[in-house]
Amino acid sequence: MTAPLVVTVAPTGADTSRERTPHVPILPGEIAREAGASAAAGASVIHIHVRDDEGRSTMDLGRYREAVAAVREAAPQLLINLTTAGSWRMEEPDRLAVVALRPDMCSFDAGTLNFGDGVFLNPPPFLRALAEACLEHGVQPELECFDISHVEACLRLADEGLLAQPLWFQFVMGIPGGIAATPRNLLHLAGLLPEGTAWSAIGVGRAQVPMTTLAIAAGGHVRVGMEDNIMLRRGELATSNAQFVERAVALGALAGRPAATPEQARQIVLGAAPA
Ligand code: ZN
Repeated sequence: MTAPLVVTVAPTGADTSRERTPHVPILPGEIAREAGASAAAGASVIHIHVRDDEGRSTMDLGRYREAVAAVREAAPQLLINLTTAGSWRMEEPDRLAVVALRPDMCSFDAGTLNFGDGVFLNPPPFLRALAEACLEHGVQPELECFDISHVEACLRLADEGLLAQPLWFQFVMGIPGGIAATPRNLLHLAGLLPEGTAWSAIGVGRAQVPMTTLAIAAGGHVRVGMEDNIMLRRGELATSNAQFVERAVALGALAGRPAATPEQARQIVLGAAPA
């Protein structure tokens, strides 16, 4: 198997705090520095959350613009994927507004689930509105599936013409309230997709290496970074998101899957025609 490997870096997330790790990038300039290092290490996509000056999640569009501009300057080749979740506490209009910034991609959380002690609401009318916004603005939704029924919901939306081809899935393995991070579960999710559909996997916390390794072996792609995991190994905090990218790229190389070039990533993720 020699298909190139798309490595997404998710450097910040909603809930990774400075108390948990002093290395998480919070401000646009910090995110941009991590973007540059991650791109140099082989990442081809960056999934961005923004925070306010106190480090709390925000859907402030000005902050998004600032972060996107800084990342574009530091790593112009990266595909930019903006969160439309922020965290599970955000309001629907604010979540939809992000799409109008026309990033390459945005997250599309494909169903409602318990999320830790909370409920992450993604009701069907919201998902239809989000899908329509993506079509209107030419943004590739990253179909984030936290459980099996989320995959089926996406395939129904695609049948209705609300999701444009090619589809791009992201399986989120190991959120408390979502599907458990087991090999059987990941292979089952991948097996639900129509032949040839591109997918990627996330493993939360200590599941990061097992899930991404399996994804690489199974022909999928991977997401890593401090949104999902802060420990490089037991007892050792990562000091940069690029360390996670380097490890994913090394695993890919061992499996005969070199890191995708930016052009290859555009073909795989967006269905862009070869230049
Ligand atoms: Zn996210």
